Parts: sequence; structure tokens; C-alpha cells
Amino acid sequence: MPLSKAAADIPLVPAGLDRAAHHRRNETWLEAAFNSERARVLLMREGQILVEGSAPAAAPAEIGAPLPPGRPLLWLGSQAGMLSPKATRVFLGETVKGSPVFALEMPTSFSLDASPIAGLGVFDDFRAAASAFDAFNGGCAATARALFEWHRRHGFCANCGDRTKIVEAGWKRACGDCKAEHFPRVDPVAIMLAVRGDKCLLGRQAVWRPGFWSCLAGFVEPGETIEQAAARELFEEAGVRCTTQAEYLFCQPWPFNHSLMIGMILEADGDEITVDTTELETARWFTREETAAMMIGAHPEVFAPPKFAVAHHVIKAWLERG
Ligand SMILES: [Zn+2]
Repeated sequence: MPLSKAAADIPLVPAGLDRAAHHRRNETWLEAAFNSERARVLLMREGQILVEGSAPAAAPAEIGAPLPPGRPLLWLGSQAGMLSPKATRVFLGETVKGSPVFALEMPTSFSLDASPIAGLGVFDDFRAAASAFDAFNGGCAATARALFEWHRRHGFCANCGDRTKIVEAGWKRACGDCKAEHFPRVDPVAIMLAVRGDKCLLGRQAVWRPGFWSCLAGFVEPGETIEQAAARELFEEAGVRCTTQAEYLFCQPWPFNHSLMIGMILEADGDEITVDTTELETARWFTREETAAMMIGAHPEVFAPPKFAVAHHVIKAWLERG
């Protein structure tokens, strides 16, 4: 399905990858595809992704910290299958030209330096690396990370406690005892900007980098719509009521651990703020001028989310409305 222009600008929104789900149950096809000369394989280890270069990996980014320059994703061919017999393999899909695309999660014990690809690449912090990926590489990387995070936490059946095993090219786990089937989780998160006249509401958490402010956000709960979740979270965290309909903008697959960030704008009923300090350190209204200065890094004290985060694009959408 074509993306809107706004959605196409958001990092990690995939493009150029056909998931080709009809191949997932065909073990013969999958083996031949993985071993073909056309196979493209990306590697991950403990949430980090293999990129080109030999410089040390970036430290995990503090929320709100500027990201170091990204490096290109290092794609391998089918020889990646010989790097470790303990790797977890998933089939991501096919490129527009029909090349099969796979991802491997290497075991913690895997050493790049002791492998045949020593010197070609390095496992880097996902945020630092992926912030510079294009839509194809970002989409592949985010899909792989979300899947591997889910597999790492779902080795046992939630129904009976027995071990589960990976089936259907990594898109399902099956219990050997009770036969329950488990599918990869996606956790919907409402990320929203409450606005009132010429002001918008931003908040910050105590653990964030000093001076960093962002949109409020929270998980969608069972039995509610994304619009209702956004209004509920704004009232719970900041005491701000929004009784008119929330406006959906766009969403972003966010592989920490396997969320879907749903960007929205809501009109606030009033100015008064009552912060729930178990959720936020503080929240306040920012004028359009202040917000615009934050977004271009021209504010002396506070700064806005980086382009890698969907919150940046939610704020930008409001500013562009003038
Ligand atoms: Zn079971």
C-alpha cells in the first residue's frame, strides 16, 4: 500500500520489502532461497546490528541524546549461514527484484573477531546505526529486531509452560506439548500532542537527558480505541482533558521492544496541568515560537526529539499547520 508523504519521511517505516508470507511454510523453498547467490542476510546480536566499519560500537543512546553518525548496514550473503550453528534465522521477505532477505540473530558467545568476517563490520547500537538507514534497510532492521526481541522472551509456552520452537520462518512459535500457537507481539503505543490555541503540551521524564522534552505517550489498553487511549493517557499523566476526537497522523514500527508508535494530535479542553509524578517529572505548555526554536536547535535551554523518533514528526506536523 502506498505511504502518505508524511509517513514516508519517518525512519523505520519500511519500503521496498515484500514480506512474501506465502513462502513462510515452505521449508524447501526457504532453504534454497537462503543458500542461493541472491540471498541478502543481515546479522544482529543482543539487539545490536552489524554495520560496516571497524570503529568501536556506539554506547547505547540516553533518551534524548544526540545520536552519533550512522554507518551503512553490512549485508552478507548465504555464507552467513556458516558463521554459527546456534544462530536464529528469520525470513524477512523479498526485495522488489526478488532477492530473498533473511536476518540472523547470533548467539551471545559469537565473536566477530574470531569469525571469517573479522574486520568487515561491527555490531553497533541500534539507534545510532539505524537513524541513518534508508527505508528499506531501516524497515528490515526494525522488523528483525522486533522479531528477535519477541523470540528471546518467548521460549516457553504461556499456556502450559513447556518449551516452544520457532516455525514458519520465524513468524510463529509452536508448543510441543499443548500445541498452542504463539504469534509475534506488537504493542500499540499512543504518542500524542495535546494542543490549545497556539500552544502544545510537552513533558519529560526524570531519566531523560536534561533539557529534553517530548510528546506524552502510553500503551493502548485492551478494550479501548487508540483515540481513547491518547485522551486517557493525557488525563492520567498531565490532568489535561481532551473530549474532542483525537486526530490520527501516522505510525512508526519501533523495535524497543516490539511497539507500534501511533502519532496523534488532540485539542485540549483547558490549560490546567496536574502532573502524575510517578509517570513524568514535569509537563508544561510551549508556545509555537518556542517549539519551532526547539525543533531547529535554536532554543537556549530545551530541545526536541530527534528526527529518528516519531514524536519529532508529530510536533512537526502541528507546526506545519501554522
Ligand atoms: Zn503449551
